[in-house]
Amino acid sequence: MDHFLYRNGILHAEDVAVPDIAAAVGTPFYVYSAATLTRHYHLFTEALSPLPHMVCFAIKSLSNVAVLKLLGDLGAGMDVVSGGEYRRARAAGVPGERIVFSGVGKTREEMRLALTGGIRQFNVESEPELRALSEVAVSLGFVAPITVRVNPDVDARTHEKIATGKKENKFGIPIARASEVYAEAASLPGIEVIGIDVHIGSQLTELEPFEQAYLKVADLTRRLRSEGHDIRRLDLGGGLGIPYTRSNEAPPLPTDYGALIKRTVGDLGCEVEIEPGRLISGNAGLLVAGVIYVKNGEGRDFLILDAAMNDLVRPSMYGAHHDIVPVVEAPAASPTHAYDVVGPVCETGDTFAKGRDLPLVAEGDLVAFRSAGAYGAVMASEYNTRPLVPEVLVKGDHFAVIRERPSFDEILNRDTIPAWL
Ligand SMILES: *Cc1c(COP(=O)(O)O)cnc(C)c1O
Repeated sequence: MDHFLYRNGILHAEDVAVPDIAAAVGTPFYVYSAATLTRHYHLFTEALSPLPHMVCFAIKSLSNVAVLKLLGDLGAGMDVVSGGEYRRARAAGVPGERIVFSGVGKTREEMRLALTGGIRQFNVESEPELRALSEVAVSLGFVAPITVRVNPDVDARTHEKIATGKKENKFGIPIARASEVYAEAASLPGIEVIGIDVHIGSQLTELEPFEQAYLKVADLTRRLRSEGHDIRRLDLGGGLGIPYTRSNEAPPLPTDYGALIKRTVGDLGCEVEIEPGRLISGNAGLLVAGVIYVKNGEGRDFLILDAAMNDLVRPSMYGAHHDIVPVVEAPAASPTHAYDVVGPVCETGDTFAKGRDLPLVAEGDLVAFRSAGAYGAVMASEYNTRPLVPEVLVKGDHFAVIRERPSFDEILNRDTIPAWL
């Protein structure tokens, strides 16, 4: 459920009419609903209760500082995968003890940043990283709390570009080698082992792969404890999928996911951490675009929007589907037409949908892409020198621009011409 509904035939974000935002901000833009973000966060805290737990929002799905502040103020932790994301979490007022640092390629500089600024734990993904982290921690007089990310060799049955838990993926250490790696971790002076981490992929639409992975983590917990490690925290990753169409998809609910967690690891006496991104942010955002032209081609008609693949790359990168709806609702039983929905970028890949049935639309109309809150704005670029798409946050009847569209002067001033040219 989200808070983007038609009222009197006009699409609203909570209590704000989307055309009012478009008039103030111009198109294209992203708009997020505070009520939806809040609701999704609470679905997880409720699903995990009464287990001791922390829900760490995966910042990479939607990293605007205003959104992080909203979630942080609710008590959310943050899962960061770079020093830049760490800085965003801190800028949003989230204390270090609620920030988890994931990622396969943490640099020593990023380790220093997190150790000095405060960190809940590092999720370490390799032995070289473990040794580097120990060295950095010792040099600063700290001991780094860590989990090791294990790769359980489970097929997440999701898109190949976002599956991370198979042995051929770059992530984590093979679970079969865990004893060896934990023994080394325990021997390093700058490291304190506190738990185990696993994350098998994104947009999972079944619970079964989670179940396989978490059962392996439960076994590993018992084994590592018998080997003398104080395993007291389990980071179970993110990845729960969302419905991208209104009709035929029913991914598992957070309550069922929570029940699965309790069933598989709930009796181990561990604090449980999860790192959801998409399920919190995905259906909390729209991308709103204007229609530039309707172009009649041979055997197909193109809807040319002022949003493009640089603003929302998921369709061209993953072949992803987004529902596209008119901002002014078509009257019931009005005719539909099949459009190829495209942007102005000079690539055939700049196609959002092919042969999509939509109510008849005309130049100047507004359309909205649903489920665009996750991996939307964060993946945007300025390809074709199209200004980075702005972001708007709505709460009740308030709305505010939380990232401005840059001016062309700002864009051009970032380039410098060397004196010797
Ligand atoms: C991407 C990622 C997540 C979030 O995945 P979602 O599918 O957005 O829930 C969580 N943890 C790690 C380590 C990730 O890389």
